[in-house]
Amino acid sequence: MADGEPANVTEATAAGGTHAPDATGVPSLRARIAHKVMPHTFQGRLTLAFVAILALTLTLVSTLVLNRLGDYFDQQQRQDLEARSTGVAQFVALVAERASDPRPVISAAGVVDPAIVVELTQTSQERFLADRLARADVLIRLGVRVDNAFVPASGGEFRADLQEAPEVGQIREPITSDAIYYRVPSAFGDYVVEVTLSNPYTYRATAIATTTGLLAIIGLVALAVSIVAAAALARRFTTPLRRLTEASRDLAEGDLARRVPTDAPTAGSLELTELALQFNAMADRVQESVDIIRRDRDRSRDFLADVSHELRTPIAAIRTFNELLQEHAGEDPDARAEFLEASAAQIERLDWLAQNLLELSKLDSGLVLLDLRPEDLRATVEQAVEQAGTAARRRGVDLSMAMPDRPLRIRHDPVRVGQVVANLVGNAIKFTARGGRIHVTVAATLDGARIEVTDTGVGIAPDELPRIFERFYRGTRASEARGSGSGLGLAIVRSIVEMHGGSVSVESRLGSGSTFTVNLPHSPRAADGLRPAGSQPVEARTPIAGEPAAEAAYMADSSSSPAPALNVDAPR
Ligand code: ADP
Repeated sequence: MADGEPANVTEATAAGGTHAPDATGVPSLRARIAHKVMPHTFQGRLTLAFVAILALTLTLVSTLVLNRLGDYFDQQQRQDLEARSTGVAQFVALVAERASDPRPVISAAGVVDPAIVVELTQTSQERFLADRLARADVLIRLGVRVDNAFVPASGGEFRADLQEAPEVGQIREPITSDAIYYRVPSAFGDYVVEVTLSNPYTYRATAIATTTGLLAIIGLVALAVSIVAAAALARRFTTPLRRLTEASRDLAEGDLARRVPTDAPTAGSLELTELALQFNAMADRVQESVDIIRRDRDRSRDFLADVSHELRTPIAAIRTFNELLQEHAGEDPDARAEFLEASAAQIERLDWLAQNLLELSKLDSGLVLLDLRPEDLRATVEQAVEQAGTAARRRGVDLSMAMPDRPLRIRHDPVRVGQVVANLVGNAIKFTARGGRIHVTVAATLDGARIEVTDTGVGIAPDELPRIFERFYRGTRASEARGSGSGLGLAIVRSIVEMHGGSVSVESRLGSGSTFTVNLPHSPRAADGLRPAGSQPVEARTPIAGEPAAEAAYMADSSSSPAPALNVDAPR
């Protein structure tokens, strides 16, 4: 069975089977009619729903009222007919007594006295009985009660039909009352007058017609009022939704600062206020992300410009050497040797630059996964400092270190942290004049460890301090040492330290020296919220959606790079 089949079966059942959408997905007849007839706006549908509910209520109430009114009239009519029947019976008994006196009304043979017949069949009596007393067609029978049952006497049945014209609003009602039996005590033996009234004049039909008319008028007025009120209310309900739609459209068209009002009176109901709040929160996030992406794009653009600039210098130098060699210098062996050596140095610098760039971009893109081990930090730092010893001696700088007595085990990537120390010590060597001192300290802190690299070098100007960790930033004061750098070393330091959940800061005084402080947590996993008091991460980086998560740091290093001691001694 195809995937879509069960859905079609359900549709067919819901649509009554005959108008179900066919396999081609054509909408059912009912759906098409509903689409044509139903209003398309939310406001229209709300209005229609209000009005439909009111119309239904009015119909139900009217039907109930009319039904109850009919029952009420019936009951009244029966009570009224019973009262009039009793009056008729009493009158008949009176006439019969007077007409038959001194004979019995009904003889022992069960025959009504003929004088009574004569009296009751007189037109005047009939008119009085039907038109005045009963105001209905009258059937009278005289008889006796035997064993609780009425036995009519011979010749004792009289009829009188209502002939008087009805009053305004009166109509003959085709009903027949229950017969009443009026027992008359007599010296000759009790007899019974049976009276049945039918087809009386009543106001029932007129009253019901009037009430129906009234209800119809009230219903129409109520419907008209409800249409206006429902339309106004629906408009009020839908205004916040309209505002949301407009804001979404503006947002989609690029107006990222667009928001919807969230104060209760303007936003509408609680649910809509909540929706507006969520919408604004979403818009904030969108704006934030776009800002971050824009900033990143600008940074990438600057970075590319910097990279091309950095590459141009050695390339231009190589080209010049090449041209010189092709010209006259190629014939002079000394000049040729010198130019070839200078070209080799530039090529080495290019290679070194490419290595640094690759490393930095891998660190930034999260491709570098830290190989975290709970090893002694002292060993890591010692190794890096010892490697820098040769360069320090060559430059005539005193390089010393102070370590804690006991092992300082923290979870870190020894190769990367070694790289951090090598870069900091390398910079210190570069920027410290002959005879100067560099001191590296490792100490335990409450939540991890601290590495400090202090030098008695040239120092950094206060206005440059916030910028030195930027890529390609090199101090503005021209010097041989600055000229040899690429401005990438500290950016690499910052990336590695942040990957460890730590922070790096610098204090410096121009002419007296600088101190770089690296704080590392016990474990990068617990690093969140554990930044050491007083240490300022040099530049806060907001993670962008989709940026590799910090968890990457807990996995084994997948980087195949040999992790060179970057920036230690940049080729000139
Ligand atoms: P570079 O490869 O140029 O050294 P870095 O990113 O390592 O690049 O350093 C950036 C800049 O910070 C340097 O050009 C220099 O101006 C300044 N700097 C870094 N370390 C020191 C230091 N120990 N003493 C003085 N200035 C320093």
